[in-house]
Amino acid sequence: MTPDEFRTAGHEMIDRIADYLDGVGDRPVQPDVAPGDIRAALPEHPPTSPETFDQVMADVERVIVPGITNWQHPGWFAYFPANVSYPSILGELLSAGLGVQGMSWVTSPACTEVETLMLDWMQELLGLPAAFRSTSESGGGVIQGSASESTLVAILSARFRATGGAVNTDGDTTKLVAYSTDQSHSSIEKGLRIAGIGTDRLRTVPHDEHFAMRPNALREMIDADLAAGFVPFFVNANHGSTSSMAFDPSAQLGSICRERGIWFHIDGAMAGIAALAPEFRWVNDGIDLADSYCTNPHKWMGVNFDCTTYWTTDRASLLGALSILPEYLRSEAAESGAVIDYRDWQIPLGRRFRALKLWFTIRMDGVDSFQERIRRDVALTQDLANKVADDDRFDVVAPHPLNLLCLALHDGDEATDALIERANASGTALFTRTVLDGRSVLRVSIGSHTTRAAHVDAAWRLLQGDV
Ligand code: PLP
Repeated sequence: MTPDEFRTAGHEMIDRIADYLDGVGDRPVQPDVAPGDIRAALPEHPPTSPETFDQVMADVERVIVPGITNWQHPGWFAYFPANVSYPSILGELLSAGLGVQGMSWVTSPACTEVETLMLDWMQELLGLPAAFRSTSESGGGVIQGSASESTLVAILSARFRATGGAVNTDGDTTKLVAYSTDQSHSSIEKGLRIAGIGTDRLRTVPHDEHFAMRPNALREMIDADLAAGFVPFFVNANHGSTSSMAFDPSAQLGSICRERGIWFHIDGAMAGIAALAPEFRWVNDGIDLADSYCTNPHKWMGVNFDCTTYWTTDRASLLGALSILPEYLRSEAAESGAVIDYRDWQIPLGRRFRALKLWFTIRMDGVDSFQERIRRDVALTQDLANKVADDDRFDVVAPHPLNLLCLALHDGDEATDALIERANASGTALFTRTVLDGRSVLRVSIGSHTTRAAHVDAAWRLLQGDV
C-alpha cells in the first residue's frame, strides 16, 4: 500500500466507522450466527497474491460486521459497558500509526512521560490519594491492559513483599493465603493461580446482606490462618463487584490489613470511574489504606479497550517483583534514576502508546461530558429501580447505588432464566444472567454511551411483556 492509497483507504475507513457508530442502534444487539459460520464464510487458505482494500472491506461488510456483538448498542445492558469515543478512536489510530514500543523511557520518551502525566491527571480527576502520584515518595501509576492484569501485578507485588523477594529465587509460596468474597471477579482467582499461590489458598470471606465483605469475618479468618502457620498476604476488596455492584467496607478492611502487614488491593474496575463526578466520590472510601487500586477508563469513561489505570503506593515491591535488566535493555537514563521504565510495571515487555487515547479523550470530550454520562446512567438506573419496585412480579435483589440493577422474578429461577432467554432473543436488548446467593438474577447494566431514557423504557417494556 502506498502512502496515497493509505490516505484514501484511511478516509474511507473513518467514514465507515462513523457510519457504523451512527447506525449501531438499528442493528440487532447480537449477531444471528451459529458457531463456525464466520470462519466458513471466509476462505480457508490465505491469499496467494495481495488483494485490494475494497475486496477486504467487502468481507468486512458481508461477514465481520454482521458477525459481531454490538457493544456500542443503546440496548446494551449486558456485562458492563466497553464504551468507545471518537477522540479515543483517533488516539488509538495515532498510536498504531506512530508504531512505537514504550517498554523503556529511552525507547520512546513521550510514550512514558505522557502516560505518567495521564496517571497523575486521573489521580487528580478521581480525587485519589496523593500517595498514588508519580511524584510521591513511594507510589505511582501505570496503564495496564486490563483489570485482570492489574490484579495479577498486585498479587505478584504482594507475594514479593510477603516473602522478602524469596519467591523470585527459590522461596516457598505454599503458606501464602489470600482473601476475598464470592462477589469478586474471577481475575482474583486467576491471578492467584498464575502466581503459583493456587485456588486452594483463596479464602472466601462471608458477605453481608448487601454482598459486602464482613470485616469481623475477615479478621477471624486471618487470625485463624496465622495461628495455623499460614501467611496471609493479600486481601482484595471490591468497589463495585461484577455480579452485584457491592462495595466492601475498605476503611475497616484496610485497617485490618495495615495492622497485620497484608497487601490491600481494591478492584474498582467498573465503579471507580464514578468518582469523576464529585457527588460519587464515596466510591473511594477507604482507598487511602490501599496498597494498590485499579479502575477501567475502558468501561464507563469512553476510552477504547484496553486501558486500565493502576496505582500502587508500594513501588518498591512492584519493581522488586517484576524488574529484570538484561544488558540489551540497559540505558543511561534508567541508570541515572531520572526516568521510569514501564516494562518493570507490567507482565509483557513491549507496550503500546495507550496513553494517547486517554489524553485525547480527556482533552477533547472533557470531564463535563464524563460527569454527564455518569449522572445520566445513575439516574436512569434509579428511575428503572422505582418502576421495578412498582411491579410485584419482580424483586430488586441487591443495592443499586450506581448503574447496575439486579432483578429476579418472584416465580423463581426457572421463570427468571426463561425471561432472560426470551428478552435476549428479541435482538433489541441484551442482559446477563448471574447468581446471587443461589438465586438466578437478571443484571441490567446501564452504561452504553448511546443509551437514553427511551431505550431503558423499551427494555423495561420488553421485560414486562416477556414475563
Ligand atoms: N473486576 C471487576 C469488578 C470487573 O467487573 C471486571 C470486568 O468486568 C474485571 C475486574 C475484569 O476486567 P478486565 O476485562 O479489564 O480484566
